[in-house]
Amino acid sequence: ARKQLIVITPTYNRPLQAFYLNRLGQVLRLVPPPLVWIVVEMNVASTETADILRGMGIMYRHLVCANNLTNIKDRGVHQRNRALEHIEHHKLDGLVYFADDDNVYSLQLFESIREISRFGTWPVAMLAQSKNKATLEGPVCNGSQVIGWHTNEKSKRLRRFHVDMSGYAFNSTILWDPKRWEKPTSGLIRQLDTIKEGFQETTFIQQLVEDESQMEPTPLGCSKIMNWHLHLEALELGYPKGWLLQKNLDAE
Ligand code: UDP
Repeated sequence: ARKQLIVITPTYNRPLQAFYLNRLGQVLRLVPPPLVWIVVEMNVASTETADILRGMGIMYRHLVCANNLTNIKDRGVHQRNRALEHIEHHKLDGLVYFADDDNVYSLQLFESIREISRFGTWPVAMLAQSKNKATLEGPVCNGSQVIGWHTNEKSKRLRRFHVDMSGYAFNSTILWDPKRWEKPTSGLIRQLDTIKEGFQETTFIQQLVEDESQMEPTPLGCSKIMNWHLHLEALELGYPKGWLLQKNLDAE
């Protein structure tokens, strides 16, 4: 039987949300089941998001993270934790993948994730529109071994693992049945809002694996770009003021 995919997406209402969720949802719909899409919002489940999910034709959970942390610059951290809690609580069995709503994902990516046993990682292309350039972040591999890391940002040199949030996936049983795995740390695994920007992924991953030897290049050799992280700097749009929409495009 095909392994279940558990895709976690933090999201929030903004003008581009309908564009992002439709684009991602329609890719997920093309992925052979079983797949469950866990979409998490902060404080309330918005009708905009609910409507999009209902019409998508895939299995999903629409969760809310309500913990009154209004001041914290969180960028999805608490929402991802809410989804991890859900997986633990219901002992969902499958491969967990964090898919931010604004990135682009290929079908091959989901096919490859299904091959992962414990923890798989691959390089993600980071695209900065304003600079018209692409950089890679993620593992350098030799066959079935991770032998190094692509990274370009000096400020992040001290990270243990140079992986993007959308550049790895792992077996959900690590969360609720750690005895099956030689886990480097025991106890609940969560993402932390206190972590320095850019260190969120490595801190989390260090709890899932000891070192590179426990990582699986995905697919073998990890020679393929399967998803793209776009930093769309659209701040300089040249439209007249009245044409701007502040709300979600699916809002009534
Ligand atoms: N996100 C969210 N609330 C926020 C900021 C971000 O739910 O206040 C979600 C966003 O929809 C996306 C993920 O968190 O799915 C990562 O956000 P973003 O891409 O803006 O962060 P970046 O990757 O640029 O740091």
